[in-house]
Amino acid sequence: MTSRLQLRFVKSAGDIGQLPDTPAELAFVGRSNVGKSSLLNALGAQKSLARVSKTPGRTRLLNLFEVVGGGTVVDCPGYGYASAPAKMRGSWQKLMERYLLERRQLVMILVLVDGEIGPTPLDEQMIEWLRSYDRPHTVVATKHDKVKSSTRDKRKRELAAGCGLTPGDIVWVSAAKNVGLDRLRDLAQVWLSVDAVGRPRRWEPGSSSEDG
Ligand code: GDP
Repeated sequence: MTSRLQLRFVKSAGDIGQLPDTPAELAFVGRSNVGKSSLLNALGAQKSLARVSKTPGRTRLLNLFEVVGGGTVVDCPGYGYASAPAKMRGSWQKLMERYLLERRQLVMILVLVDGEIGPTPLDEQMIEWLRSYDRPHTVVATKHDKVKSSTRDKRKRELAAGCGLTPGDIVWVSAAKNVGLDRLRDLAQVWLSVDAVGRPRRWEPGSSSEDG
């Protein structure tokens, strides 16, 4: 069995200039309630790890976790808080845009989509936007356990199509039922490993089979 992804909270940052140097970085993005904290906790097998990202004052910031063995995981602010003031939405959108487009060390952006309800218009916009800038990204569908086994194949096809992808491109996970976590940990290790001349390795979506 793949061992847990050992993560240690480093800091919260409100500007990309405050980010420490690292060989390679993974970013987790998704709308609020998609299951991002649950997934980070499950990957790290640490119950309260991502709670830090939900503490007042940190929810609009980039929350950094050092990966034991090398690299960084960045928990990005959840998007789609309808109640947030427009001014605030603007400032954290700018932070996210700068981070996702300009951060040189960012080797993979994991876009979380709720597996039970499928991609929302905001998710579709995020995926389309990353694609238009040719930013490396992988769609992770959460809450696999909430999709009835009788409708799973259909749901997988529909979710992938909604993201403009094929089912084999999507990594399905359940933080609650431990589905797909080992595979995602393995992928994280590959993404974070740098090659002999110090360049991060790239993993192309669709190069591995469907999970779950
Ligand atoms: P975040 O806002 O994206 O960090 O989402 P949370 O991790 O706080 O999860 C939002 C809700 O979805 C909570 O009620 C979780 O218990 C639930 N949830 C998260 N992951 C799973 C999962 O894999 N299976 C099920 N059934 N529920 C989940």
